[in-house]
Amino acid sequence: MIRLLENIDLKPYNSFGISAIASSFFEFTEKEDLCNYLSNSAMPEKHIILGGGSNMLFIHDFEGMVIYPNIPGLGLVNEDRNYVYIEAGAGELWDDLVSFAVHYGLGGIENLSLIPGKVGASPVQNIGAYGKEAKDHIWLVKGVDLRSGEPVEFLHEDCRFGYRDSIFKNEMKGRVVVTSVIYRLEKFPEFSLEYGALKAETEKLGEISLSTIRQAVISIRSSKLPDPVFLGNAGSFFKNPVVETGVADSLKSRYSTLPVYSTASPDMSKLAAGWLIEQCGWKGFRKGDAGVHKDQALVLVNYGKATGQEIVDLSGSIQRSVFEKFGVMLEPEVNIIA
Ligand SMILES: Cc1cc2nc3c(=O)[nH]c(=O)nc-3n(C[C@H](O)[C@H](O)[C@H](O)COP(=O)(O)OP(=O)(O)OC[C@H]3O[C@@H](n4cnc5c(N)ncnc54)[C@H](O)[C@@H]3O)c2cc1C
Repeated sequence: MIRLLENIDLKPYNSFGISAIASSFFEFTEKEDLCNYLSNSAMPEKHIILGGGSNMLFIHDFEGMVIYPNIPGLGLVNEDRNYVYIEAGAGELWDDLVSFAVHYGLGGIENLSLIPGKVGASPVQNIGAYGKEAKDHIWLVKGVDLRSGEPVEFLHEDCRFGYRDSIFKNEMKGRVVVTSVIYRLEKFPEFSLEYGALKAETEKLGEISLSTIRQAVISIRSSKLPDPVFLGNAGSFFKNPVVETGVADSLKSRYSTLPVYSTASPDMSKLAAGWLIEQCGWKGFRKGDAGVHKDQALVLVNYGKATGQEIVDLSGSIQRSVFEKFGVMLEPEVNIIA
């Protein structure tokens, strides 16, 4: 099914709840729809690929084409001694995939419960939470190259995953539409409970299992993060900055409560962006309808009628004050669409 619409307000399509008119909006439900479209027409130069819009900030109307891959499907494609391979369409809700996996006793993505958005964005963003990342279980990403109009596939190693990063945000940005993802899930799950209060919260629910871990994650997230249905937001607005370990050590010697996390490289350390922002006094700040959440300094919110520009202006002020105080430049995690 194809829908080609004009002058669509994207307000219902982004979790910030920002109004922005897209000149054209192309929705399709099968990969072949996109290939057929591309064999007859070139993709307009200005375009974006939109999933659930939970990591997008539109700062004004979008004079181009919004590509909306609304491809359904969730099913087993292969199985071996230790793993089950599940293919999910780009348009499936991410949390429906997690729920499906947990229901069938397949391990690996339970810590990523309740992350908003669609499956198609999961490899793009390399979503992560509670010590796990999507990359840990992505086997194959299928898509369509908008330049050639041909189907393409990316094995795990081709995706060049990093912290909230992948080839789809870099060399292939705006070029590859992800149409489905194959996740390799564990038949004999290895639980990962080291992060924060997850173990304690899970134990409160009884025996540790995929299901109790999922429930614990849902309960922690629901108590900490604002629900975009009631308060517009895109989760963490900034990435946790990764700095040289020497810089982290020097900051830690001055600010003993600064949370510092190790990374894959001993030379680099990760700082908690929320802590840095909170120390600069931003938590609970509000100007007009743009603000910083009262409990989560890392989450910028739209109290109702904020414009994308007002949110971006606020984010710029936060970046400047954090840089002035700590010498660390915060980088947005949210995709800012100009
Ligand atoms: C309350 C809240 C909590 C959150 N918590 C977390 C968290 O714990 N961890 C985390 O990692 N993220 C978190 N996020 C951010 C967000 O949920 C993720 O980034 C998610 O993957 C975005 O999915 P989406 O479908 O909404 O993508 P969108 O926001 O629509 O798009 C995100 C990016 O992916 C691209 N994209 C989307 N679909 C496709 C596709 N099919 N093909 C190619 N490119 C595509 C877009 O062009 C854009 O660059 C949170 C957001 C909210 C609102």
